[in-house]
Amino acid sequence: MHVLTAEAFQQRVFTWFDRYGRTHLPWQHNKTPYRVWVSEIMLQQTQVATVIEYYQRFMARFPDVKALAEAPLDEVLHLWTGLGYYARARNLHKAANVVMSEHDGSFPAESVESLMTLPGVGRSTAGAIYSISTDRPAPILDGNVKRVLARLHAVEGWPGKTEVERHLWQLAEYYLPSMRAAEYTQAMMDLGATLCVRKKPACLLCPFEDVCTAHACGQEDAFPESKPKKAKPERQAYFALVQNDTGRVLLEKRPEKGIWGGLWSFPQFEDRGGLEAWLRDLSSDIQCAPHWAPFVHVFSHFRLTITPCPVRLRDADETLQSADRIWVDPSDVSGIGLAAPVKSLLEHLQSAQDVIQSTT
Ligand code: SF4
Repeated sequence: MHVLTAEAFQQRVFTWFDRYGRTHLPWQHNKTPYRVWVSEIMLQQTQVATVIEYYQRFMARFPDVKALAEAPLDEVLHLWTGLGYYARARNLHKAANVVMSEHDGSFPAESVESLMTLPGVGRSTAGAIYSISTDRPAPILDGNVKRVLARLHAVEGWPGKTEVERHLWQLAEYYLPSMRAAEYTQAMMDLGATLCVRKKPACLLCPFEDVCTAHACGQEDAFPESKPKKAKPERQAYFALVQNDTGRVLLEKRPEKGIWGGLWSFPQFEDRGGLEAWLRDLSSDIQCAPHWAPFVHVFSHFRLTITPCPVRLRDADETLQSADRIWVDPSDVSGIGLAAPVKSLLEHLQSAQDVIQSTT
């Protein structure tokens, strides 16, 4: 297989980017380290098409790092609702406060290392922020670039393994140009996101079609190797969907650490017995409806089967409200962060209520 020099590789990347690269994404304009940072964090686990709308709303509300640092975490989480991986939003908020308190409000973009001191910013994200916002070279190795390089060189092993990752970083460093750093970073991400996609890569359109080892062997799908599979543990959760006489719903704030950290959710129990005991302690005036159909929500490290249990509770407002427990109108939950299944269940409660009202 013919191996390209770094210069020849860069030449092909730029020629391709000049014709097909993406240049109209919202974070490609008015490029400041802050704007690029927010986009890179959103893009870490989420596709461009989904991110665009979230990014625009986020920027409209938090146009600079000061606005983000001063906002309540709840509001940040609210604007993140539906994007998933909420630790990203908590880290953004934490990092904004670090920028304000330790860097006088100016983003520490003088080096990749200084960016890596911020919560939630690893080497690849720091490289992307640095190269895109300053136009100075720094290698990146996000999921897209890993895929391109692993296929090009048929790099064996799962990239989560230290030695495989080290090999991929060496390749990323080797190919790095000294000029057009921002465009090169964008081009490498675009190549992976639009051509060298996970399933059925568009090799015939790829600038490396004639030099790609995986393609030459017809083994594109074999690289990069997947994480060795372990069966995900199964867990159960019973959600108490408690509504009062006015139709408002009881939500509790989840602990900062753990799943859905800092988001608002329904009171949650591991089994039906625990939920019923809690209800008995709460009031003697409760009406439990039959539970709704259980459904599965998949987290990165386990599967959670959720059983929603609707409950009517009378005269409970005063006794239950606290800093971590609120009554909300299910038709208006603006300003608080909700996990996607909680948001759907609130919508479902609201539509069930609309049906009751329209039939009475
Ligand atoms: S030839 Fe195909 S597998 Fe190889 S880098 Fe290009 S798109 Fe990816």
